[in-house]
Amino acid sequence: MNAFLKNAYQSHHALEIIFSSLRWFFLVLSIVVFAVQNVGNPVEWKITLFVLLVIFGFLYMGISDYYLHKTPEGSKMYDMMTKGGPFFDFVAFSALIPLTGGLESPLFPLAYLIILHVAVYWRFLGGMIAAGCFILVYSIIFFVQAQDATSLHSMIDYFSAVFFLFLIGGLGGIIVSRERKHHWENSLLVEAANRDYLTNLANHRSFQECLRNDLEKEKEFYLALTDIDKFKLINDQYGHVTGDKVLRQIGEILTSVLSNKQGKAFRYGGEEFALILYYKNEWEVKEILDEIKQAVASYVFYDKGETFSITMSFGSGKQNGERPDLLVEKVDKLLYTAKNGGRNQIVLAEVG
Ligand code: GH3
Ligand code: MG
Ligand code: MG
Repeated sequence: MNAFLKNAYQSHHALEIIFSSLRWFFLVLSIVVFAVQNVGNPVEWKITLFVLLVIFGFLYMGISDYYLHKTPEGSKMYDMMTKGGPFFDFVAFSALIPLTGGLESPLFPLAYLIILHVAVYWRFLGGMIAAGCFILVYSIIFFVQAQDATSLHSMIDYFSAVFFLFLIGGLGGIIVSRERKHHWENSLLVEAANRDYLTNLANHRSFQECLRNDLEKEKEFYLALTDIDKFKLINDQYGHVTGDKVLRQIGEILTSVLSNKQGKAFRYGGEEFALILYYKNEWEVKEILDEIKQAVASYVFYDKGETFSITMSFGSGKQNGERPDLLVEKVDKLLYTAKNGGRNQIVLAEVG
């Protein structure tokens, strides 16, 4: 139940499945209500109209369910059928209410559900417009059906119904807008907590989480650690602002090289980066690291009328089911082998 609710909180699709199931339930309920109301005194035109309405409901709901389950979320037909749903519901509602007792119809509260459904997509304005449409339908039925529309009793009934419809539309819209804003702010916070501000790469926290998850799921991957060679000299010679530009550029290179590969880049800390590469073979990893190494070395930086370039050293090994900290420690040793071997090189070894 908890998982079901959580799903409904987070996904439009889950919410649409709830609305679609409710439609089937209310179709059956409508048939029961109509049958009970008409069993003693059947009127032919009413039965014909109701049967037509039920056929329309079956067809529409069948087609809509087909698109809900068979087309990808976000596709044109999916959007049309889900967002168009409340419109068809409104048409069916307008025919159903007069056939099931008008103002006294036990199905009238369906209006509240349909208004809420509209508010999910079009928030406050949508909720208010939907409420307006239902008020129009309600008013027509009211003035056709009411014996004495101008009596105090009738007026109180009328205005309280109108008030509740507006209230549902307005409050529904406000609640949906608040929830969206909250969701958006939350995703900004999550993003800020997981991204490195300078390089725009995923940060150390993300790296540790990703590493732990991938090891738990026993994914096959290589871990690589890479560090800028003699970066202190760049800072000393050109200043920290230029040093920062270099780090940003490395972030861009890593992102662009990995964009069409199965791998993720993180800023491990300082001028050190971590890469998780989802490949099985050493040669594939070597190829990617070579590409990064070349791209970094061939990039020309400009500062104070001078040009300079930098190099990076790499250590990489395959995960062997060990603890995350031990895996990092072992790959770090490989990186230091690369540093001690003269820098600007890749040291790759099976970790085990
Ligand atoms: P090695 O080849 O052995 O890695 O030499 P190195 O000079 O790169 O290594 P060292 O650890 O001596 O120096 C790292 C430098 O990176 C020192 C530090 O100021 C600089 N650094 C770390 N983080 C940042 C940053 O965010 N911005 C800038 N501009 N510099 C940074
Ligand atoms: Mg360094
Ligand atoms: Mg370092």
